[in-house]
Amino acid sequence: MVKALALFSGGLDSALSARIVLDEGVDLEAVYFVNAFLPAPLEIKPFLMKQAVRLGIKLHILDISRSHLAMIQAPRYGYGQHMNPCIDCRILMLRQARAYMQEHGFNFLVSGEVLGQRPMSQRRDALNIIDRDADVKGLILRPLTAKKLTPTVAEEKGWVDRDKLFDFSGRTRKPQLALAEKLGIEEYLTPAGGCLLTEAEFTRKLRDLISSGKVGLEDVHLLKIGRHFRAKSSLKIIIGRDEEENGRLMDLAKNEDILVKMRDFAGPLTLLRTNGLEETSNGEIPKLIETAARLTARYSKGKDEERVGVDYWSKNSGEKRFIQVTPAGEDLIARMRI
Ligand code: SF4
Repeated sequence: MVKALALFSGGLDSALSARIVLDEGVDLEAVYFVNAFLPAPLEIKPFLMKQAVRLGIKLHILDISRSHLAMIQAPRYGYGQHMNPCIDCRILMLRQARAYMQEHGFNFLVSGEVLGQRPMSQRRDALNIIDRDADVKGLILRPLTAKKLTPTVAEEKGWVDRDKLFDFSGRTRKPQLALAEKLGIEEYLTPAGGCLLTEAEFTRKLRDLISSGKVGLEDVHLLKIGRHFRAKSSLKIIIGRDEEENGRLMDLAKNEDILVKMRDFAGPLTLLRTNGLEETSNGEIPKLIETAARLTARYSKGKDEERVGVDYWSKNSGEKRFIQVTPAGEDLIARMRI
């Protein structure tokens, strides 16, 4: 039996494409690529699993976070409106999908792309570049827009009937919504799955991180929570905005990070990322602890007090120390906020 591998995003277009190919009698499985710029991967996964079960397909989840993070720092085809390198991102995913396809004996790939739907990666010339650079020319069937494109191997060999495929194009979603209703597909994620690389606020913090020269996956995950302040080229202060973020900050803290909390007032947890700089190495860290304490106080119930007490400790030792500070003013915040 002919086997195909669909690129799955949880969005409407990938669900429709999977359903069309399944209805053509192809044995279909799907792959979902995890990268570091998904807003809430832990919440997305159960949804994807549910959607795959509803469609009756096996879902493989592959983590490409490391190669994706390297790619976004120097994309060959540049960025979209923010820091979304959609053409390079598609090439990376399709290369990985091709390797998986060959390794596991699939005959072709399936993708939910629609010609002209996204300005950067779904123009005809962009699709050609993507197929060429990912080495999937003729191997990738795009069922929603197939009739606007050159026939692929799957159509030429009669594995799927081209007459049952579609000719959608352009930015309108109406044909997909009508087809979803007809096929009974009701639940799906927003287009692009909420990719954080398309968001202005997130990409401002990401640019700052990249220019600091220190870009690890843990640092990217930290960008998703809290208020961020640049303390020195490679050092940062991050302040939780609610209990959940305080908990996440605690989880993401490294042994050498310093944590800061108000002693007598309700307030946030603050993380000072020292990047291994010793407290005794020069006067830098004590000064930064004071700054972190002042910022913490500013976002606490003690923000209008003249002086407040703040505890700080390294995650490593857990031994609490104490400092008295004046809550930060707007000028300090304006100078440091990323
Ligand atoms: S929106 Fe994000 S995940 Fe989607 S192709 Fe662009 S960079 Fe990749």
